[in-house]
Amino acid sequence: MPDRPLTSGQQHGRRSWAEPWKIKMVEPLSVTTREQRQAALDGAGYNTFLLRSEDVYIDLLTDSGTSAMSDRQWAGMMVGDEAYAGSRNFYALEEAVKAHYGYRHLIPTHQGRGAEHLLSRTTIKPGQFVPGNMYFTTTRLHQELAGATFVDVIIDEAHDPANLHPFKGNVDLDRLRALFARVGPENVPYVSLAGTVNMAGGQPVSMANARELYALAQEHGVKVYLDATRMVENALFIKEREEGYAEHSIAQILLEFCGYTDGGWISAKKDSLVNIGGWLAVNDDELFEELRNQVVIFEGLHTYGGLAGRDMQAMAIGIVESVQEEHVRSRVGQVRYLGELLESWGIPMVLPVGGHAIFLDARAFYPHLPQDVFPSQTLAAELYLDSGIRSMERGIASAGRDPETGDHNRPKLELTRLTIPRRVYTQAHMDVTAEAVKAVYDARAQARGLEMVYEPKYLRFFQARFAPL
Ligand SMILES: *Cc1c(COP(=O)(O)O)cnc(C)c1O
Repeated sequence: MPDRPLTSGQQHGRRSWAEPWKIKMVEPLSVTTREQRQAALDGAGYNTFLLRSEDVYIDLLTDSGTSAMSDRQWAGMMVGDEAYAGSRNFYALEEAVKAHYGYRHLIPTHQGRGAEHLLSRTTIKPGQFVPGNMYFTTTRLHQELAGATFVDVIIDEAHDPANLHPFKGNVDLDRLRALFARVGPENVPYVSLAGTVNMAGGQPVSMANARELYALAQEHGVKVYLDATRMVENALFIKEREEGYAEHSIAQILLEFCGYTDGGWISAKKDSLVNIGGWLAVNDDELFEELRNQVVIFEGLHTYGGLAGRDMQAMAIGIVESVQEEHVRSRVGQVRYLGELLESWGIPMVLPVGGHAIFLDARAFYPHLPQDVFPSQTLAAELYLDSGIRSMERGIASAGRDPETGDHNRPKLELTRLTIPRRVYTQAHMDVTAEAVKAVYDARAQARGLEMVYEPKYLRFFQARFAPL
């Protein structure tokens, strides 16, 4: 018998998973030279958001809107009912949201931030406080634009990339209690709860925490609204890590979790396996009435909210596919595969590995670079130069400035995100990615950092330009 290398599953004492689909259509990738990549990076001001996708080899910028749709979703596109009002696709979407998220009233929106805008402007009064389990860029900005001050109430463990807490997305209930006591619950329009906290490294919230949070909020007459954008992935972590849930289905866990909130919204571009779309859904009749008035001003009629009928149909089918056990297992399994490979080589990153991405710890990568020279942005640039792999900064550039003082917000976490699109890349792409990260890590002592030479006013990380120091 010839010796064979162990598969990844065997190395970790478990059976390997495989994708529960096969490939029917392919999209060729572009392979570039280092000289071409240097020219592209100069042209993009060292910001990976400003690269052209045709200059990118493996695109791990984001898992947003980058999923591969199934043949069934594409078939759904063909039965788009493009009526201005009352499209049958809206009712299909409403049914899918009710079945899997449980909320009573649905408002479709063009994407997640459309929902955040509507929720913020209808529920927040200027001067109020919105607590949340770490911020998300667009979520916090809409809350601030509506006049609120955002207050981070995530547990301390979330700010430590090496801490192995199984639910680093949890809300610190004492911190929330202290906020209620300090500002008065009447000045808190809602708690902004997010499943698998993106900025903390895709870290989940436990069912117990959601349950206790809801009880505490109800005690104070405060609503809880859920950013359910990656709640399906959160549900898998609950199934794997929380006692009593091993035998529950992903769909059951999702539904129970949403039951501890008064409403929620999603960017369907993530979990729901579509390229565009989102929604906001609430249980309260009065709030729904108000949202229905507002959506007409900013998004479109309440039965399409900025979406084509065909997009709503693809989303309805995507929601059903997204909660299938084998899908979630292979989706998170692929992220974990890349994480285990990098970890075995000693690459510093946020642990435990989250559901949608690997978050490289740029502070630990480049201990010689102060935060003001943008270590995460530097790492993203170096990785692109080495291999054509596109990643994203999630550090001081993403954190923006303090609206009061004008100084940089200085987040404890300085991360570079390798985000895995759903159903798009193979295990071989993960191997190539891991080797590129290792090459950049081996050359880490040569990195010099960047300076920001153009800074936009809002969400600066999208369009800022940098120059090498
Ligand atoms: C992407 C995202 C949003 C915003 O959604 P868009 O569809 O990009 O507008 C909100 N919350 C979370 C957690 C997200 O990941």
